[in-house]
Amino acid sequence: MKELTVEALFNVFDESAALLSRLLGISYLEALGETAENLFHGHVLQEELNEMDEKRLQKLYKEANLEQHSKEAIRKSYQLAILKGMKEHVQPNHQMTPDSIGLFIAYLLKKSMQGKSAFTLLDPTIGTGNLVTTVLNEFNGQIEAHGVDLDDVLLKLAYAGANLLHHPITLYNQDALEPLLIDPVDVVVCDLPVGYYPNDERAEAYRLKADSGHSYAHHLFIEQSLRHTKPGGHLLFIIPNGLFESTEAKKLQAFLTEEAYIEGVIQLPETLFKSRQAAKSILMIRKKAPGIQKPKEVLLAAMPSLTDKKATAAIIQKIDRWFSEYQER
Ligand code: SAM
Repeated sequence: MKELTVEALFNVFDESAALLSRLLGISYLEALGETAENLFHGHVLQEELNEMDEKRLQKLYKEANLEQHSKEAIRKSYQLAILKGMKEHVQPNHQMTPDSIGLFIAYLLKKSMQGKSAFTLLDPTIGTGNLVTTVLNEFNGQIEAHGVDLDDVLLKLAYAGANLLHHPITLYNQDALEPLLIDPVDVVVCDLPVGYYPNDERAEAYRLKADSGHSYAHHLFIEQSLRHTKPGGHLLFIIPNGLFESTEAKKLQAFLTEEAYIEGVIQLPETLFKSRQAAKSILMIRKKAPGIQKPKEVLLAAMPSLTDKKATAAIIQKIDRWFSEYQER
């Protein structure tokens, strides 16, 4: 049996999700989660379907024959179907971290981990799981991953996707700013949800709570992530470009200086975002620990458009040089 292209695999996810959505009266994204579960188990799990529809789906799944596809082909086609579902029903928190950013984070993490491939990782806002599975696919090691998210539809997609890719990820459906039953990890990756955190009472437990009114959720997430990181652990956040320019920024900066080393801030290409205001950067920090030195200089870089190969190569060279100098000390 020949291997399907990413587009043909997407069509399998898409056709099954559209059919299940119509037959079961659920959203496309929910039906996509059901589809991924069916594909993982190798048969149709929904007992409500009639024999004809069940056979149609069974045939589709058999032709897809997922076992013969690479993890990246499966992740990409699943991701395309998730994007389609998100476009159909726009919801403010339904955002997925795109490939290009996930791959860049994986590259930075590889540099930070210096060849280590067995470690623990947490994404406190794992959403669909695309960021984490992009990283896990790149490492191909023994990463023990944990993910938290408030949104049960997205978390189901993360769960079913992780199964399809055979990645062990422990998932928690809760507000990640409430106490977490997760031991400190070696690495945190997080595409920060940006905005106000509505639970002022809970925000009281954070040093980065606002002096008055609602606190910034993205600030609280940085604090919560550091609490759940081992000393010397690495944290990579996708942040809004203006993170250090807001009214609460001074407090954040002072907190970070006390608890961690800011290793780098890398601006992502504006072309990846809808507008200049929506553009983001990657913040690399390391939790302080005895024996861990502060970098001589913070890595500051702006990624050019990824289609500009020459400029991208020059920035990558600069980043590689920064890592070698930092790690040789
Ligand atoms: N990296 C994710 C992916 O690849 O799908 C996307 C993350 S998205 C930018 C931010 C996520 O934060 C959303 O999935 C949203 O549901 C989640 N979120 C927002 N506030 C939260 C909270 N207090 N606790 C847990 N998750 C939260």
